[in-house]
Amino acid sequence: MTKADIVIIGSGPGGYETAAEAAAKGADVVLIERGELGGTCLNRGCIPTKALCRSAEVARLVKNASVFGINAADVTLDYARAVSRKNDIVTGLREGIAAELSKVRVVKGDAAFTSAHTVKAGNEEFTADKIIIATGSRPASLPVPGAELAVNSDFILEMTELPDSLIIIGGGVIGMEFAEIFSAFGVRVTVLEYCPEILPTFDEEIAKRLRTSLKRKGIEIVTSAQVTAITAGGVECSVKGKPKSYNASLVLTAVGRTPAIPSGAIEAGITFTERGAIATDENMQTSIPGVFAIGDVNGRCMLAHAATAQGKVVLGEKVDLTVVPAAVFTNPECAMAGYTEKHCADLGLTFRTGKATFRSNGKAIAMDEPEGLVKIIVGDNGRLLGCHICGAHAADLVQEAAVIMSAGLGADTLAGVIHGHPTLGETVVSAFRNLA
Ligand SMILES: Cc1cc2nc3c(=O)[nH]c(=O)nc-3n(C[C@H](O)[C@H](O)[C@H](O)COP(=O)(O)OP(=O)(O)OC[C@H]3O[C@@H](n4cnc5c(N)ncnc54)[C@H](O)[C@@H]3O)c2cc1C
Repeated sequence: MTKADIVIIGSGPGGYETAAEAAAKGADVVLIERGELGGTCLNRGCIPTKALCRSAEVARLVKNASVFGINAADVTLDYARAVSRKNDIVTGLREGIAAELSKVRVVKGDAAFTSAHTVKAGNEEFTADKIIIATGSRPASLPVPGAELAVNSDFILEMTELPDSLIIIGGGVIGMEFAEIFSAFGVRVTVLEYCPEILPTFDEEIAKRLRTSLKRKGIEIVTSAQVTAITAGGVECSVKGKPKSYNASLVLTAVGRTPAIPSGAIEAGITFTERGAIATDENMQTSIPGVFAIGDVNGRCMLAHAATAQGKVVLGEKVDLTVVPAAVFTNPECAMAGYTEKHCADLGLTFRTGKATFRSNGKAIAMDEPEGLVKIIVGDNGRLLGCHICGAHAADLVQEAAVIMSAGLGADTLAGVIHGHPTLGETVVSAFRNLA
């Protein structure tokens, strides 16, 4: 039996960041990983999609180059090259993680609980006062006939050849990013979303703007669509109660993710939420004292930075888990921090909204990025409750609002800080000035 201070299962952004930080503070840390270092985020999630989203952005930019006085008439797209660039980026970053883990003992293997405080990987058994489960999640499948005919995000990220046409089931963040990528590379894309609007967790007005913009780029988006079957040539569904069929050479399901639970967890006494995630308290502790669960596996917030932040909570650091920015890296980008108008209404809060468009922002016009909207939501005590952006660099812009919200500062802080000119950040200030 090997004894360590901390045993961590899973090397995604939850596991590896926590391991590196604990080791830097002097703890004796064992990190067990059955796949590649970096988890879903680095190998099959955030980074590979962002590399391909950038290729998509460049493809659209180059096709539009004449607007900038640049003649690029004979442009050809090479998707295999884009995938190979993506792979190089992932490999390089993985080497970076390995270097960050220099003070951590990394064990390759599939970890299984053998008792409440013991974990086995290969032939070795480990114990520690603190065990952290950071095993992440895997793509959920759709319980319909023919589901096995569809591919998931893991598969599609490895493809080097483009299909002629693609149906994406699920208009959430992952589905919309793939829609953007494949459409920019010339694939006919249809998105089928079950809810009345895409990006169901985002502000409705922002989601609608994105849907309208992507439709203009030729992506077919069908909302209120309940898929009933997947066939060899497409998808059968019911749209607002009427049967419909859509054809494509490939079907991708992007319908959410299921927590990846290590074997033996149930027998060890770990309890679960109704949705099959590991149940945790506010310190990320599971039903077993000293055993913690962070990241996707606890189902609290399936985002990379949330996993990392939860790891810091386990290490006893003060982190604000109430403001978690989220983004979708389409073109235009969308991002949010804090409450949506619907959240505020559901909570019975009184609030005002302020909006500003990119069309009246000098930098956005100079960049030829006029499509954009910033919406801020301010409570009756003057506190910033939410910020929602659709437009270029939305994910970076929303961070300013997240800082103000987390610090509990008034929304007027936005206007009290000089914003450089011309910058996209001026739109956030304009939204405050336009508070209705
Ligand atoms: C296509 C896609 C795009 C995404 N884009 C973004 C984005 O832009 N921004 C964002 O914030 N989030 C994004 N996400 C979500 C993000 O990837 C996850 O929220 C994040 O990876 C969760 O981190 P984690 O540490 O909880 O788990 P993971 O990253 O899933 O890592 C878990 C690790 O545990 C290992 N493991 C599992 N079981 C065992 C076991 N029994 N023994 C040993 N090892 C085990 C796995 O092999 C894996 O390496 C995206 C996800 C996908 C699929």
